[in-house]
Amino acid sequence: MIPFNKQNLFGSELKYIQDAYDQGKLSGDGKYTKLCSTFMEEKFGGERVLLTPSCTHALELAALLIDIKPGDEVIMPSYTFVSTANAFVLRGARPIFCDIRPDTLNIDEEKIEDLITERTKAIVPVHYAGVACDMDRIMKIAHNHDLYVIEDAAQGVNAGYKGKYLGTIGHFGCYSFHETKNYSMGEGGALIINDKRFVERAEIIREKGTDRSKFYRGEIDKYSWVDIGSSYLPSEISAAVLWAQFEHLDEIQERRMRIWNAYYSGLYPYEGANKIRLPIIPNSAEHNAHLFYVLLNSEPARDKMLSLLKEKGIFAVFHYLPLHTSPFGLSLGYKEGDLPITEEISRKLIRLPIYTSIHISEVNKIIDYFANY
Ligand SMILES: *Cc1c(COP(=O)(O)O)cnc(C)c1O
Repeated sequence: MIPFNKQNLFGSELKYIQDAYDQGKLSGDGKYTKLCSTFMEEKFGGERVLLTPSCTHALELAALLIDIKPGDEVIMPSYTFVSTANAFVLRGARPIFCDIRPDTLNIDEEKIEDLITERTKAIVPVHYAGVACDMDRIMKIAHNHDLYVIEDAAQGVNAGYKGKYLGTIGHFGCYSFHETKNYSMGEGGALIINDKRFVERAEIIREKGTDRSKFYRGEIDKYSWVDIGSSYLPSEISAAVLWAQFEHLDEIQERRMRIWNAYYSGLYPYEGANKIRLPIIPNSAEHNAHLFYVLLNSEPARDKMLSLLKEKGIFAVFHYLPLHTSPFGLSLGYKEGDLPITEEISRKLIRLPIYTSIHISEVNKIIDYFANY
């Protein structure tokens, strides 16, 4: 049996969890949270990086920071995870779904401007599969219309766009360290703040609306309630796990890249035979091998392939059901046919197993099923 995903663990996680225990401080913002956030600031950039309990929470924190209010509109792809939309819907915003590009499956930057109204507050590009959106174009549109850009880089940790790390280009970037992502703390995430103006308030909102972060740094002698807020700190036990993963940052990526390249070169002949379409990586994007997808020619062909693989004990999976045709999306007034590329891609896509410990012989076995299909 080949699972779809396996959490990679190095053993050092336990050592760091034990150390966190020995420190006697398991609540947030201790030694390991500091190690992880400093590491990200130095490696990826950004004015400040705040560790959060999930990428969902990082997105929520961003929505709070830009003061999303009922009636505001936020432009995003429909081909994404629910949290991209929910973080803003929670604040009363209306998600405005934009179709995707057939090549990268990312938001189609040429369709964004038509969706901008007086109520538009932000654009949320999602870097699908860790492959960068056209950030130059998106940042230009945002600048011209005075909009915020929040990168949903949940899948894009340690991936780049023209030499910059994903998550460091918009006003904010959001990372996920969920078990299904490249680097995992079980459940976790981070908010990358690229605009200095938001750093102080982000710390306050994350600390229940208090200035406790300043207090801990010794900048003030007591802390109090100063703003709205919530609790967006992960425990030190989770941060200790992430620190072990960060010590192997490049190794994890190299191993995933080897698997990704094995799939790509092994499946390449069948693309020529017009059976499948492989991922397209633009020159501007340095991807991180987060996932390997294949597009089949039709929905029945996709479903046939999925059940064939399942029969053989291989857990390949489809991906997003478009948000605009979900029950909630329909309740917002969207309907089938509104975003044709999103709908078509969603029906034809399969994701193949990819994790650091999958063996190349297992990858080759999966490739052989495509040969015979
Ligand atoms: C995984 C994912 C999220 C949510 O991440 P959590 O850490 O589980 O909250 C959000 N957006 C995208 C695009 C994702 O892939």
